[in-house]
Amino acid sequence: MSDSNSNSPSLDELRRAFDTQLATAIQSANVQPVRDRYLGRKDGLITRLLKDLGTVPPEQRRERGAAANTFKAYVEQRIEEAAAAVREAAQRAALERDSLDVTLPGRRPTLGRRHPLTLVRDRLEAIFTRMGFAIVEGPEIEDEWHCFDALNMPAEHPARDMQDTLYLARPVKGESGRPDDLRTLLRTHTSAVQIRYMETHQPPIRIVVPGRVYRRDDLDLTHSPAFGQVEALVVGEGISMAHLKGTLLAFVREMFAGSSRVRFRPSFFPYTEPSAEIDISCWQCDGAGCPMCKRTGWIEIGGCGMVHPAVFEAVGYDTEKYTGFAWGLGIERIAMLRHQVGDIRLFYENDLRFLEQFPH
Ligand SMILES: [Zn+2]
Repeated sequence: MSDSNSNSPSLDELRRAFDTQLATAIQSANVQPVRDRYLGRKDGLITRLLKDLGTVPPEQRRERGAAANTFKAYVEQRIEEAAAAVREAAQRAALERDSLDVTLPGRRPTLGRRHPLTLVRDRLEAIFTRMGFAIVEGPEIEDEWHCFDALNMPAEHPARDMQDTLYLARPVKGESGRPDDLRTLLRTHTSAVQIRYMETHQPPIRIVVPGRVYRRDDLDLTHSPAFGQVEALVVGEGISMAHLKGTLLAFVREMFAGSSRVRFRPSFFPYTEPSAEIDISCWQCDGAGCPMCKRTGWIEIGGCGMVHPAVFEAVGYDTEKYTGFAWGLGIERIAMLRHQVGDIRLFYENDLRFLEQFPH
């Protein structure tokens, strides 16, 4: 019979090693590895110790067995205590972390604010919604058909030069001549959405289309290559220029001043006939003349006109039955006028000193 225990550490040595390892385990808040090492069902040091008792000479067995069991009880108890201590420490730490001092004054959350251009757009939408218009949006990446052709601006039309923009895809050589053969581009005006809407709806139509549009303009005091527009379109039976003027006047009086007046100057747009530039009386001087209106008493805010029959033909409307009007306004332009902002670039620079001057 071999004495396999002769080179094994004594129980005293084992206990000292255990105490040291357990102390380290408590510090790192993880007792489990020590538990496995000593009490593990298969390889635990104490499990092996008890198994090895079978090899101990019978006369020593009782004494060695008793000592091993005492040590096992000791280890079990110390590990249990250590696990409890670690649990309690974790709970205490969590409580401290989550503690709530109800006597502290509340922290006021910093509220953001709407951008001045958003303020103008929201106000526009509110006014038109009250007047019974639906708010409609469309894609900023448009095809030539919706942006130009359907709006009576065929290829080579000089008006296309004035609305030069970024083209996104090379033309696909197709035979059908259908819109999907056409190039895509960043839309130059929200009027493209008129076409999309009329293609899928029948009159009567009353829509307002706000959105971002793109031109090949350099950024300066009054121009930006990307800016906001809002477009209005009304189509129905018997719609006349009088409806256009009345609706516009009602809008302007809500947007600017109750005493505003509207003036039309003849103009040209391919998609309207007749066409006009819209001037409104200066709300600073009420038409008397001041620096804001360059002493003229009038301020230009956009363009308008009666929808050209060619546009109705493009979407398959009966040009004998329906008439309509449309206008387009610049959102930045309105914001600059309303708040007397002299430089359009201020709207895009995100300088809080500028943005915080506007009401919430
Ligand atoms: Zn004025």
